[in-house]
Amino acid sequence: MSPEPSEVIANEAKALLDRLGVVPSAFADGGLPARSPITGALLASLRETSTDEANAAIGQARAAFLEWRNVPAPRRGELVRLLGEELRSAKVDLARMVTLETGKIVSEGLGEVQEMIDICEYAMGLSRQLSGLTLTTERRRHRMMETWHPLGPVGVISAFNFPVAVWSWNAAIALVCGDSVIWKPSEKTPLTALAVQALFERAAARFGADAPAGLCALLIGGRELGEILVSDPRVPLVSATGSTAMGRAVGPRLAARFARGILELGGNNAAIIAPSADLDLAYRAIAFAAMGTAGQRCTSLRRLFVHTDIYDALMTRVKSAYTSVVVGDPRRDGVLVGPLIDAAAFGAMQAALDAARASGAAITGGERISVAGDDAYYVRPALVEIDVQTEGVRRETFAPILYVMRYSTLDEAIHLQNDVPQGLSSSIFTLNMREAETFLSAEGSDCGVANVNIGPSGAEIGGAFGGEKETGGGREAGSDSWKAYMRRATNTLNYGTDLPLAQGVEFDV
Ligand code: NAD
Repeated sequence: MSPEPSEVIANEAKALLDRLGVVPSAFADGGLPARSPITGALLASLRETSTDEANAAIGQARAAFLEWRNVPAPRRGELVRLLGEELRSAKVDLARMVTLETGKIVSEGLGEVQEMIDICEYAMGLSRQLSGLTLTTERRRHRMMETWHPLGPVGVISAFNFPVAVWSWNAAIALVCGDSVIWKPSEKTPLTALAVQALFERAAARFGADAPAGLCALLIGGRELGEILVSDPRVPLVSATGSTAMGRAVGPRLAARFARGILELGGNNAAIIAPSADLDLAYRAIAFAAMGTAGQRCTSLRRLFVHTDIYDALMTRVKSAYTSVVVGDPRRDGVLVGPLIDAAAFGAMQAALDAARASGAAITGGERISVAGDDAYYVRPALVEIDVQTEGVRRETFAPILYVMRYSTLDEAIHLQNDVPQGLSSSIFTLNMREAETFLSAEGSDCGVANVNIGPSGAEIGGAFGGEKETGGGREAGSDSWKAYMRRATNTLNYGTDLPLAQGVEFDV
């Protein structure tokens, strides 16, 4: 089959961007190429944001914040509601753009946009619930309470694999909290970012004059723009999603200026399959978690610990899922695994498989598949049966490689699971209540996400999302994650005529 001509996919991208409200000048004749991993075709060339423009955008975001912080929170929630409406109307087009730019299958592209809609609705409700505590005080006729105030412009740096959802997790919450937002998306997925910015601007226009200019800004370009956000004292919080290497560079720079960081970094997620597990449920969960998004989720399943007694029964099913899964053009019906993002991702996958092979592992899959010419990188997901957790297994390789190991006792499995530098997501498959509770207890999984009888990937927005150790410790989306986007003031108020000092100190003047 001859590869699809580049113009076909590029023209589709242009038509989508037009419908999504992006002006053509934003993606014509610039210096930043946007490619589709589906065929490797060039979709457009974007104009990059200059350093001066980035600095001006931060200045404008600061000015916008000074106005926005005084707009009542439920009114701020109304803007986010309108954004949710725009996303609902544009869901199919934006999801298609996600598919073209990342290579996600159609259902996962739609799921990513649905997640944006969900967080908008969540944030709108939250806009009436940004509540503080009233606290007991040791002093007579005093009242003590805490108040949550808007924080300032929030920098958002995002990765290629969730090119739009990560922005919305941060922006929807930040906006209801009274903050402005400056977004530096991945240089690998700038077109979806342009589309989201256009949808936000539509929502802001409908909202009216309460939304100041520059409330949400977009910086198009490489890591140097991210570095500007990280270094600028006008940006009190940076939420950065990407590799641990990125976090290692960003974290100390934020700390040096006492800024806050929400670091959402790499994972090396595991599942433990216990003897009592429902194997039918387990193998389907493993298939989605390990092969979905071509292994390019931060929560992708990368390590599987299988009890010796059920190893063969489970692995027969897993292997059959691996051989039957359809790898191909993610736009096609029936395809479950699309392409890797680029040649570098393919190279990293092959290097990891070579290292596993050298350490004696048995590998099935992992080879390149010819789908759409030389510039697109499709692979058969790899199963690597290995005896020990080598250094290679302990690293995150952002590709569909599942390392499979046997275990005999739950203690051993939990130890192995936790014995990696990362701490994002984890799960156990068991029908044994003691095992399930042990896994979720203080002596169980050390990850930010720990599940029972569902895989480690595919988190809901209602919970706080993030991980421990080298995953960075950040939390975003639901639960009380909003607190990171606000500053807390403790207020003590004296309505009496005396001036009692705390701790009984006397200071009579
Ligand atoms: P990446 O680290 O290469 O890039 C992520 C973003 O950081 C990009 O926008 C990039 O321009 C920017 N960046 C890189 N270096 C920077 C620096 N020194 N200063 C400021 N900005 C910088 O990651 P990627 O390849 O796009 O994404 C894959 C990685 O992201 C994987 O490790 C994956 O696990 C991780 N990820 C984590 C989460 C999470 O929530 N924990 C979610 C998605 C992806």
